[in-house]
Amino acid sequence: MPCKKPAPSPADRRKQDILAILEETYKNSGTALRSQSVFQLLVAVILSAQCNDNQVNRVTGPLFAQYADAAAFAALEPAQLEPYISSCGLYKNKAKNIVGAARIIHNEYGGQVPADREKLMALPGVGRKTANVMLSVGFGLPALAVDTHVQRVANRLGLAQSKTPEQTEAQLCALIPEEKWGDAHHWLIWHGRKICAAQRPKCGQCPAAALCPSALPQKDGGKA
Ligand code: SF4
Repeated sequence: MPCKKPAPSPADRRKQDILAILEETYKNSGTALRSQSVFQLLVAVILSAQCNDNQVNRVTGPLFAQYADAAAFAALEPAQLEPYISSCGLYKNKAKNIVGAARIIHNEYGGQVPADREKLMALPGVGRKTANVMLSVGFGLPALAVDTHVQRVANRLGLAQSKTPEQTEAQLCALIPEEKWGDAHHWLIWHGRKICAAQRPKCGQCPAAALCPSALPQKDGGKA
């Protein structure tokens, strides 16, 4: 007789119910960063560290009109890039990293961003989060990037119990089917931006409040 799969625990059911709510709420969401190519996406993601996506888009519009691909960026000195990106924060480091990455991509990969986590993480300015964004958004490969929003929201909702983005990534990947990893990254980011802010989360407007172990009590008697 075939073995019966054990029934999911109430805790597992709650997590799956939360994910279903997030999927329904944010099903048409994606990245807010504008780009015309995988290389441009990489530049935008590097610029987005400690800078919001709208500001990155304001910067990359004129920047990509002037320098469109890895070859064009590889020919620059970081100091030439700095004036374009100075409103993005940490711009001196970002300029160095973008030009350094462009040179490697131009010289070693024929101008094409590699679709490989190790090779991506060997590029200057590219950590695991950025590599995962590139794999999922840039190449449509299964990867779940954990940024500050994903880390906070996943832990508040009890989808993860972790101190590090790596642990959160592993716990979320164990919970979510592989084909939804990339989408789940966007659900959690948009929930963090719109509702579950770092300071003063809007629990009264949160569609998952009834299932959230971190929901703040509401003035109207707890209804959310
Ligand atoms: S109920 Fe509050 S803490 Fe929980 S996910 Fe919603 S906004 Fe965040």
